[in-house]
Amino acid sequence: MTHLIDGKKWALLSREETKQACAILTQEGRQPGLTVVLVGEDPASQTYVRGKEKAATEAGMQSAIIRLEATITQDELLAVIYRLNQDPHVHGILVQLPLPKHIDDQVIIDAIAIEKDVDGFHATNVGALALGLTGFVPCTPLGIMRMLAYENISLSGKHAVVIGRSNIVGKPMAQLLLKANATVTICHSKTENLGQITRQADILISAVGKAHLVKADMVKEGAVVIDVGMNRLDGKLVGDVDFENVKEVASAITPVPGGVGPMTIAMLLHNTVQAASNVTS
Ligand code: NAP
Repeated sequence: MTHLIDGKKWALLSREETKQACAILTQEGRQPGLTVVLVGEDPASQTYVRGKEKAATEAGMQSAIIRLEATITQDELLAVIYRLNQDPHVHGILVQLPLPKHIDDQVIIDAIAIEKDVDGFHATNVGALALGLTGFVPCTPLGIMRMLAYENISLSGKHAVVIGRSNIVGKPMAQLLLKANATVTICHSKTENLGQITRQADILISAVGKAHLVKADMVKEGAVVIDVGMNRLDGKLVGDVDFENVKEVASAITPVPGGVGPMTIAMLLHNTVQAASNVTS
């Protein structure tokens, strides 16, 4: 029988650990602070940002949202980031993506002080991950690794196939799997014979954004399947994986919702506490 990987349960556990760490730091007079910058009025972004703020407050952090007009210039936004970089009460800065088209996402991300880049998207943190050095790791792949560890799923020597090569999920996911000694294959929109490759996976991770992309005949018997996708289908939130059929083949699988999503927020809190702990003076 397939084992359902309960992301909500593991996220609660992780958030409890974070809350305890946060309480200790607060007692020491350095309460962790997370500031989220939201530009424009995109409804999905508004929901994500509110969720992050609520989670940070529940963990005992100082949490703030800076809401800015979509018409803000790149220079004005950079000035906001520079001010947050200087603020000793702000340990984590998160700029909700995507930004309006007239602003270059990477210029803004790279303006964040690397020690406050709790999303792990700054070029220096991306490079650190690639080199196997210490730095902030993007929350979604970090959460997946944490969940696999909680589940005692071994990765060393296993063939892990990642579908998707975005900077925020696919690429860092592949780096982390490689660091854990998996043999890693990355697939993307130009990959030929996708099913032939995914059928070789012991661990299959889909981060695409296409409902029902991963069908049962693309999954090896006994594989572990992690579904990062978040898609709307007939008004319902679904992943990339055809869950009902794939669960008959997989040995373990994450649901959507209730799988990877809760762990992403838990890792944002974890990274923010880490940022606050790193401050020495
Ligand atoms: P993205 O930047 O749009 O990247 C999607 C990737 O999928 C690209 O690398 C693309 O290939 C690849 N792709 C597209 N069609 C494909 C196909 N038919 N076969 C194989 N690969 C294909 O998306 P993202 O930001 O990584 O997010 C991916 C999904 O995860 C989305 O549904 C997003 O909402 C979700 N997500 C969930 C969480 C969470 O916490 N649960 C966090 C982040 C993202 P190319 O590079 O060739 O274009």
